[in-house]
Amino acid sequence: MKTDLNTILPKASSLSLDVKKGGHNIGCAPLFGGRLSLRKTVCVLSMLFIVCWFFALVTPVTFAQSGAAELRKPFRLMQLEVPAGERISGKLPIKGGSDGVETFIPVTIFHGREPGPALSLIAGIHGSEYSPIISMQRLPELLDPQAMAGTLIIVHIANLPAFQGRTVYFGPDDLKNLNRSFPGNADGTVTERIAYTLSEEIMPQSDFLIDIHSGDGNESLRPSYTAYYAEAGGAEVVAQSRRLAIAFGLETIVEFAGSYSSIDDAIYTSAQSVSRGIPSIDVESGELGIIDEVFIDPITDGALNVLRELDMLAGEPALPANPLFISDRARIYSEYEGVWHQDDLVKTGDYVTEGTELGVITDYFGKELQTVVAPASGILLILFGTPPVNEGDNLVVIGKVAQ
Ligand SMILES: [Zn+2]
Repeated sequence: MKTDLNTILPKASSLSLDVKKGGHNIGCAPLFGGRLSLRKTVCVLSMLFIVCWFFALVTPVTFAQSGAAELRKPFRLMQLEVPAGERISGKLPIKGGSDGVETFIPVTIFHGREPGPALSLIAGIHGSEYSPIISMQRLPELLDPQAMAGTLIIVHIANLPAFQGRTVYFGPDDLKNLNRSFPGNADGTVTERIAYTLSEEIMPQSDFLIDIHSGDGNESLRPSYTAYYAEAGGAEVVAQSRRLAIAFGLETIVEFAGSYSSIDDAIYTSAQSVSRGIPSIDVESGELGIIDEVFIDPITDGALNVLRELDMLAGEPALPANPLFISDRARIYSEYEGVWHQDDLVKTGDYVTEGTELGVITDYFGKELQTVVAPASGILLILFGTPPVNEGDNLVVIGKVAQ
């Protein structure tokens, strides 16, 4: 066998010269016709050796030089295309439908250099909830796609008509609540078309999704919290959603009850998402249209925490030391329209006992119509913070602490 090797090596050298010279005779070309002689066999073995040797030496160098970025495909969302290792900002068009209202969804996409999951962060489902919107303005400046794995889709303002119109809960054109409009309708009103675009364009490209809210322009909301569906989407989706809720890093975590039989029943953003098998959470941080770091920073920090938890960024998330789980929420809906007067002694974030007076509703002339009291003991999560009240408005949300 020693003799064979010695025979092959000199042949290999001369063969490589033949190949470089080019021409019709590429060294072993005549081998493919005629009888297989000893010389021809040696030539075949020589060629195989050279090919193996070439790949053994050159291939690792080539991979090391090009890196994963050149091997990873660009990410495409509607008309936007992002090469690996880059970021892009653009407008997802919402064409004028039957109502003729044209708008767009402003997004920024980071397509990390390395492979990984796709995470969508959605702000501005409610257009007057500003702390998520401001946080999503700041987050891109903290990220470098060259140092990221996976793909991050930031929806800066999902409901641009509501932001521009400064409306609470509802879009100004069709008076529909985007967070009650999923899965949306391609031929519906502008709010339904926005929901449809989020459902059909962004969710199918997402492995994880976070829908970020605050108290709306009229709502006081404390403390900041994350929430996940504890029963919807199947065991694995629930487990992964809970993982996200904890990793986000806020101390208060609400567990939503209930599940959905079909995506048509899942009218909320995150409900739609989990019903499609995508682990998702809600975040609530901020209130009353206030721009304050105390509400904005937890959102930005939470997003970075989740990116680390999903190994899209280097480092470890800062987990809550003593997460408080809220298993159930009690609500009060107004029985009247009129003027809301919050009690001076209560504020959101307080622990209240059942029966605590929270405020009164008067008619437009000042006559008392309804005294509103805490329907259960727990943390006062949300309370109306401005005077206008309509019949059926959800004035109060109290979080019952899980046992
Ligand atoms: Zn909201």
